[in-house]
Amino acid sequence: MTNSTALLPNLILAVAKTIETNADDLTALDQAIGDGDHVTNLQRGIQALAAQSEALSQLDWQAALQKIGMAVMSSVGGASGSLYGTLFMAMGKNLQNRPLTIAVFAEVFMKAVEAVKQRGKAERGEKTMLDVLIPVAELLLQNADQPEVLEQVKQTAIAGADATQNMLATKGRASFLGERSRGYIDAGAKSSQLMICAIVDVLTAT
Ligand code: ADP
Ligand code: MG
Repeated sequence: MTNSTALLPNLILAVAKTIETNADDLTALDQAIGDGDHVTNLQRGIQALAAQSEALSQLDWQAALQKIGMAVMSSVGGASGSLYGTLFMAMGKNLQNRPLTIAVFAEVFMKAVEAVKQRGKAERGEKTMLDVLIPVAELLLQNADQPEVLEQVKQTAIAGADATQNMLATKGRASFLGERSRGYIDAGAKSSQLMICAIVDVLTAT
């Protein structure tokens, strides 16, 4: 398995594909308990990244992650833009100049998820993308040395997204609905899960 930034064009393509394939379902979720723009928000970011994917693949991981964070921050919009932007920028900042092993990634990803929690003033259990990001970060930290950790990441991400279905939203637009927010998976949790699974599939295929 290679782990250089040469993977980035394939990773960006895989993320674009999964969001495109699941666009109708994701939009339906954001329409049910949000404002319906989540997919178009994400696709603006994906297009911005696709346009610079070759340039990104020439950088080291720290510079690439920070550039990705800035592009996401300035193109995505919505709550998810600043949160996903924060995630990538914090990953780049915390990586410093270290080579990207799974153990280093686990530490850096946990710090980045902490930054997202602070930015959105949210915790696990509030029916947001954090219900996927936090359990995945914890799993990675605890099992970074296990060969099957990436397969477990997929299962954990899916379980995290599914678990939002019965939660009461207490952050983001869905929180305006109170009890009526129950019964739907959170769109941001679902998009996080889909992107994580697409990334793992690329990593395990190379
Ligand atoms: P907006 O809500 O501004 O329309 P999006 O539709 O792009 O933005 O993204 C909505 C998603 O953002 C939600 O489904 C949720 O997962 C996530 N989200 C919203 N607020 C927060 C928050 N404070 N912390 C973490 N995630 C949040
Ligand atoms: Mg929305």
